[in-house]
Amino acid sequence: MIKKYTVGGMTCSACSARVERCVKKIDGVKSVTVNLLTGAMSVTSDIDLTEEIRRSITAEGYTVKEGAEHKRASDREKKLKIRLIISLPLVVLLMYVAMGAMIKIPVPWFLNAMDMKGAISGSLVQAAIAAVIIGVNFDYYIRGFRNLFTLKPNMDSLVALGSSVSFIYGAFSVAMIIKGHVVADHKLMMKYMDNLYFEGAAMIVALITLGKYLEEKSKNKTMTAIGKLLELAPDTAIIEVNGEEKQISSQELKRGDIVILKDGANAPCDGVVIWGNGYADESAITGESIPVYKEAGEKIVCGTTFSGGYCKFVAKNVGEDSTVYKIVKLVEDANSTRVPIAKVADTVAGFFVPVVMGIALIAFAAWLIAGYGMSFAVNIGVSVLVVSCPCALGLATPVALMVGTGKAAENGILVKSGEALQKLASVDTVLLDKTGTLTANKPKITKTVVFSGDENELIAVAASAEKQSSHPLAKPVIALAEERKLALENVENYKAVQGQGLTATLGREEVAVGNLRLIKSVLSLDENTLKTAEKAAEGNPTVLFVACGGKLKGYFVVEDTVTEQAKKAVNEFKAMKMKVVMLTGDNELAAKKVADELGIDYKAGVLPQDKYSEVVRYTESGRKTLMVGDGVNDAPALTAAYVGMAIGAGTDIAIESADAVLIKNDLRDAVGAVRLGKAVMRNVKENLFWAFFYNAVLIPLACGVLYIPFGVLMNPMYGSAAMSLSSVSVVLNALRLNFVKLGNNKTENKKSEVRVMKENKTIVYIDGMMCDHCKKRVTEAFKSIGVTADVDVKKKRATFGEAAASDEEIKSAIEAAGYTVKKIER
Ligand code: ADP
Ligand code: MG
Repeated sequence: MIKKYTVGGMTCSACSARVERCVKKIDGVKSVTVNLLTGAMSVTSDIDLTEEIRRSITAEGYTVKEGAEHKRASDREKKLKIRLIISLPLVVLLMYVAMGAMIKIPVPWFLNAMDMKGAISGSLVQAAIAAVIIGVNFDYYIRGFRNLFTLKPNMDSLVALGSSVSFIYGAFSVAMIIKGHVVADHKLMMKYMDNLYFEGAAMIVALITLGKYLEEKSKNKTMTAIGKLLELAPDTAIIEVNGEEKQISSQELKRGDIVILKDGANAPCDGVVIWGNGYADESAITGESIPVYKEAGEKIVCGTTFSGGYCKFVAKNVGEDSTVYKIVKLVEDANSTRVPIAKVADTVAGFFVPVVMGIALIAFAAWLIAGYGMSFAVNIGVSVLVVSCPCALGLATPVALMVGTGKAAENGILVKSGEALQKLASVDTVLLDKTGTLTANKPKITKTVVFSGDENELIAVAASAEKQSSHPLAKPVIALAEERKLALENVENYKAVQGQGLTATLGREEVAVGNLRLIKSVLSLDENTLKTAEKAAEGNPTVLFVACGGKLKGYFVVEDTVTEQAKKAVNEFKAMKMKVVMLTGDNELAAKKVADELGIDYKAGVLPQDKYSEVVRYTESGRKTLMVGDGVNDAPALTAAYVGMAIGAGTDIAIESADAVLIKNDLRDAVGAVRLGKAVMRNVKENLFWAFFYNAVLIPLACGVLYIPFGVLMNPMYGSAAMSLSSVSVVLNALRLNFVKLGNNKTENKKSEVRVMKENKTIVYIDGMMCDHCKKRVTEAFKSIGVTADVDVKKKRATFGEAAASDEEIKSAIEAAGYTVKKIER
């Protein structure tokens, strides 16, 4: 079982690594992942280990709550903001009191610690303001010292040490000033008046809070966008029980329930439509703003808004298994620990803190021994501590991955792990499946030829058998049967013959639907029929033959053409200098036609294990493969490939086997995913470089290496400012990923968005519409010319907003569908 928790108090990747380690040690824990950014932890185990987990995490100094909390992040932002609102004005006030006189701004004498008269009152005021600021930001002290005393120092330990050492030294100076005053030793007073350091002590914590706040704010931006997805899933669902509607809570939904979707409702889970039709607005999940037409056999995604119809669908993935939850989880899990490159940063961070403390101590001792005095040595030690907080290092990878996966999800690309995103960047060979990947997911039947019996019988037999299949070629057959309202029967002994078709028994008769190869293997055809069949298959690469009761009943010619998106995608892959190869279970003729059209290599007639061994062959020759497929026969190859990518409309097993899913079924998104992968990796490397570089340069500087030759010394305050800036810059750099062009149809989208959003202006009066089927056909006809129209059968008209379609285009499309246009009003 997998259980979710929320861990509080983690601040850097050393923290998340420690929590992970301590939970992993518990007996019975199989695996654990911890996300530093969200605090989400998921633990896989056979039994409930909550108590043990709580005990060991609390012992490490963190808090833990059961369940995933999605709102946690914004609460943190609010708290940080309050702290900032209190701290910042006080810091300004403190700066004024401490440094005003130095830069010649008038400061009343009693506040001016550099004035003999005001030395005591001035320094006490500084101490008081600093104490308030530290008090407001005291949690760095608590966490930092707790970790220090348990010998597990982290970034907070550096801050706490740096700040407290400054403060204590300041307090000591105040004591010395008072002593000097009491014994009238002006020299002693003068010596300590310049060395108060209160502003440094307070500034460090205030600046870190500022950095954290900015960081939190930008992280939350990404998180809220994703969190909104969750709100799309409704709390209640209407299901059909014994033919009656029943409202239940979405949590009670089970796989296999028949869910009813009415006009305007949001889908409560994922599923497949079995009856009715309408449009689904999938924009929140795919970024595609035009509603997608849905009918029997098509997938409904949880959270999408259904309109313009009524449908029933079978629930498939419910609750936490549904697509929206998966997206949210994926983005949250884009965690440093799982990405190979992040391990470098984690290992370094683990050593870093103790090493830095060592350096600070050595530098402090060295200057002290060299005779530069206590205050100088303290200054150096504190600078080293605050300048080397490894937070930029800890953030470098997770933030980039998080923004990257978020961006991918927004564009309908589900990348299942940060690792997959990293791997995508180095892909050099693209292997593509044909049917359903390069060609449309729902092909069209262009011709039906009957040998014996009548046409409806042929369709009914074929559809009854295909109803069991999830192959793209099954869909048009089922749709045709639906359109003619044919009663489908239940078949038995259904068997999918991969790459060929299917066999089943209907009543007492053997049925086979598939290509010629299949028919030849189940029937011994006489000379004549064989010739006719071969002839049919020759001219039309994709022919579905139907055999029943030992006889060839007829065939369908299916238009299985390469989609425009696929063409563009292949060209873009080629432009990226990738080797593109098509692997298909279909016959040589069909394969050649498609491959020639695209100008790519191919391998035809491959069985599932051949696709797999083909992938292995490329891998062994040192190539990094990206396999894209949709079918059952692609699953082994998808698993074996360096990166496997499934078409969203494809079979569940393909989706399960893949590392990434293209929800929009648009092959161009595969290109976008590769681009994004490259951009993310570049970003991670930039981030890591800057984080390392920054520490490598500033630590020696803080140690004072430039003091003797040039007199350059770093003030602890500048150190903490620079440190906060480095985290902020890493986050900002990662946010740049939001502007990466994935090169998909965004611009086209925008245009059509305008088209849909504008008020309905054009009215087309249509004659001949009688029923819902007519409505569907007319709607489809409009769709074919790129118009999303609202069709009203009763009023005999269709309305839509401004569209690029001309009157001629509209007329010919509607007439081709078998209706007449009477008038067009614009
Ligand atoms: P690809 O590997 O290109 O996706 P498939 O192996 O899925 O192709 O299918 C290859 C051929 O097998 C199809 O062109 C079709 O002739 C036949 N076929 C497979 N499944 C079916 C089915 N359910 N119904 C009819 N024909 C099928
Ligand atoms: Mg396929």
